[in-house]
Amino acid sequence: MSRGTRALIDLAALRHNFGRVRALAPHSRIMAIVKADGYGHGLERVAQALPEADAFGVATLSDAERLRAIGIRQRIVHLEGFLEPEDLDRMRALEVDSIVHHAFQLELLAQRPDPRPLRCWVKLDTGMHRLGFAPDRLAEVLDRLRACPGVDPELNLMTHFACADEAEDALSGVQQARLEQAARGLRLPRSLANSAATLRRPGAHADWVRVGGLLYGISPIDGETGLERGLKPVMTLQARIIAINTVAAGESIGYGGGYRCPETMPVGVVSIGYGDGYPRHAGNGTPVLLHGRRAALVGRVSMDMLCIDLRAHPDARIGDIVTLWGQGLPAEDIARHSGTIAYELLCGMTRRVQFDTLPS
Ligand SMILES: *Cc1c(COP(=O)(O)O)cnc(C)c1O
Repeated sequence: MSRGTRALIDLAALRHNFGRVRALAPHSRIMAIVKADGYGHGLERVAQALPEADAFGVATLSDAERLRAIGIRQRIVHLEGFLEPEDLDRMRALEVDSIVHHAFQLELLAQRPDPRPLRCWVKLDTGMHRLGFAPDRLAEVLDRLRACPGVDPELNLMTHFACADEAEDALSGVQQARLEQAARGLRLPRSLANSAATLRRPGAHADWVRVGGLLYGISPIDGETGLERGLKPVMTLQARIIAINTVAAGESIGYGGGYRCPETMPVGVVSIGYGDGYPRHAGNGTPVLLHGRRAALVGRVSMDMLCIDLRAHPDARIGDIVTLWGQGLPAEDIARHSGTIAYELLCGMTRRVQFDTLPS
């Protein structure tokens, strides 16, 4: 019997979610964010399933290389931008757009004139305080970029929201106002919105929305699921029951004895653990799906296995498929039980999980 630990990738769901984003932001172009191996779904299969994406956003040059290698012709935007002179050469060869967020990059550009124009996105730091120029430097940055012979004269402008996914979000409005003030009178294409702002701030959609989570069926907003927003989960994670045991009342289960059986009860052992990317911090009571109904985790998640309470599942058999998240069980719920966000779960699959693609 194969261990059966696999991630099913539903490309029809991905395309459905892309359509939802189009409907949410009908007047904006869509940059599909595919960093971290397409949020753990597989970079190539995700990009190939989205021929209507206006651009792809990546965080590494090797991801851009992989996309060009399979014939992706859309724009690719490197979201952190070049670090070294060699990166500039590779970006030009691959025709990849770069974020420009720091003075050191302006200096590198000035020192490396090139006939192949690099398309640039000037990033302003409007309040996230991670990457970006102070808004009051915009005019100077634009002047310096326009003076570089190797820079495409059609510049783009972007910023990133820090709190668009928070229940109480006073900062996004401030950030948007700072960008608008800095860019007043300038006719540069603009991009502000990530998934959360695409859902919640239509006034920030601007020329480009940059969406990751929504495409994969995840709502970034605290306390809700993608399902409630009409999205479909793209990844369904499955494993199998490899043993069913009867454990006596008062006995404990797993490392640390963190669950004590309140009565003599059937316990299923499932072929997945943190060595596959299932979160070790998922606590007692975290749901899994068996025959379409929920069952609860009992005891600590170990490297290769976890245990579930089968008291309400007298029909459970060895070899049965268990769904850990995805179709019928939102990854957002598992994240809530594990003290993290669904994004981290999706990105965390390890190499021993078998990936299978459902056709789009
Ligand atoms: C990752 C990323 C996004 C996408 O964020 P989601 O919440 O997944 O939509 C957008 N913009 C930038 C700069 C990013 O790094």
